[in-house]
Amino acid sequence: MCKRKTSNVTQEKKCWLGNIKQILTESLGLPEIWNNLGTRLTGKHLGIINTTLKSVYKFQWEKYINRTDNGPMGGNKLRTYRKFKNVFMTENYLSYMTNNTARKYFARLRTSAHSLRIETGRHTVPKTPVDARLCRHCNKIDDEFHFLLECSKSPDSVTARRTFLNQMTTLYPDFTNMTKSDQFIFIMAADNEDKCMLLQSFIMSLVRNRGSL
Ligand SMILES: [Zn+2]
Repeated sequence: MCKRKTSNVTQEKKCWLGNIKQILTESLGLPEIWNNLGTRLTGKHLGIINTTLKSVYKFQWEKYINRTDNGPMGGNKLRTYRKFKNVFMTENYLSYMTNNTARKYFARLRTSAHSLRIETGRHTVPKTPVDARLCRHCNKIDDEFHFLLECSKSPDSVTARRTFLNQMTTLYPDFTNMTKSDQFIFIMAADNEDKCMLLQSFIMSLVRNRGSL
């Protein structure tokens, strides 16, 4: 890093280099690194930087994902995601789902990057209020829960859902005693191989009958 440039950086100056200075001197408590730029970092320093940056990022991630403020139209894109995503880690479904297309659709469902009306309603002009983003067939909010567990638009989807729920009950006898909301969270967590194998077939049936996601 050019010493001539770093000498011009002040705490007040908001730029890339200013942010680096702030992270090193304030967030990490390592002003000696900033003051001795150009010298090789020790393993100890690298270890502190690595651990602290991960810790700070995890804290900010948890704070962001759990924020409950809604937009002016009552929306919050994370409202569904945080129900089943509460630990910062690589998700098991990414390795357990062997069908690449099903994995892609499932990732879209988890992250609300799909074409259900709960999402497309955010992009209309003017923006559609959340409670008006309805499935045209069922007149219920067209969100991930509705898509997975409720929508009766396609008879084939209803049959596929019945089969999937029966398979889940065979695999997890307590599944049938859960509330619908808990079943949804249990499904979306997709944390083991057996569940992922059932889920990927079910997702493909739903998308096939819907036409797209
Ligand atoms: Zn529907």
